[in-house]
Amino acid sequence: MSLQKICEIIAAEPLTPHAYSITLEAGRIAEEARAGQFVHIRCGDGLLLRRPISICDVNGSRLRIVFEVRGEGTRWLALRGAGEALDVLGPLGHGFDLTGEKLLLVGGGIGVPPMLHTANCSGGEVHAALGFRSADRAMLISEFQQAAKTVAVASDDGSIGVHGYVDGLVREAAARENGFSAILACGPKPMLRSVAAVAAELQIPCQVSMEERMGCGVGACLVCACKTADGHYRHACKDGPVFRAEEVCWDD
Ligand SMILES: Cc1cc2nc3c(=O)[nH]c(=O)nc-3n(C[C@H](O)[C@H](O)[C@H](O)COP(=O)(O)OP(=O)(O)OC[C@H]3O[C@@H](n4cnc5c(N)ncnc54)[C@H](O)[C@@H]3O)c2cc1C
Repeated sequence: MSLQKICEIIAAEPLTPHAYSITLEAGRIAEEARAGQFVHIRCGDGLLLRRPISICDVNGSRLRIVFEVRGEGTRWLALRGAGEALDVLGPLGHGFDLTGEKLLLVGGGIGVPPMLHTANCSGGEVHAALGFRSADRAMLISEFQQAAKTVAVASDDGSIGVHGYVDGLVREAAARENGFSAILACGPKPMLRSVAAVAAELQIPCQVSMEERMGCGVGACLVCACKTADGHYRHACKDGPVFRAEEVCWDD
């Protein structure tokens, strides 16, 4: 069940030159949050729509979000400080199915934060493959090192970890660990498309979290309509954001 709550900001800090971390006292929103779910945050009085941000971590009734500034809403959010309050709706969406003994969690860019909560929710063995554009955008690596058995990092420009894309890490991890029960991924669509292709080739079930543009967050508008492989459309907000990779139409 999703709740709307005015949540006090416990901590707010820049994480990288591009990303911010906010920890909220979120009560039952935090306590009920599952892996891969998100919250919808009212960002400023002038903006009609809330902004969807994934749940990065939960500690009791405290909930952490990590976000990059993209436009007006996230710019407003980045200026908030401890002691202020946010209007939060959540937890929303269908998250990851964590069934399986050995999971590979794959995050790309701002798709990395939800994989931390996913790692902490999983009861089984977890490995992580994280991709960033460059070293100055890398985040949460030490937290993943605590939550996962192995953590591999890649960057587009080679300034941190392996020089290359994260799908290369998926292939290497699968060979090294003798396969996985499932691959769970979040990141930009081209990255998800590549990870889904590698997973299909290796015959490993794959789930992807689609961070589409979103309007209402509860399935009442069509802003986040996602084309599926059968030619129909589904709402990323209420049917997703997590889908089985083979459900997604990757042509768009
Ligand atoms: C389920 C879900 C979870 C998300 N989790 C996170 C998260 O944990 N951290 C984070 O930083 N961001 C996350 N996002 C993306 C975040 O919601 C957008 O960056 C934010 O809504 C932009 O709002 P704005 O007002 O700052 O920018 P706007 O003024 O609305 O847009 C600025 C620019 O960003 C682009 N944009 C807006 N929304 C998206 C989007 N969803 N994907 C790609 N480009 C977009 C616009 O096309 C435009 O070019 C998530 C999105 C979804 C749907």
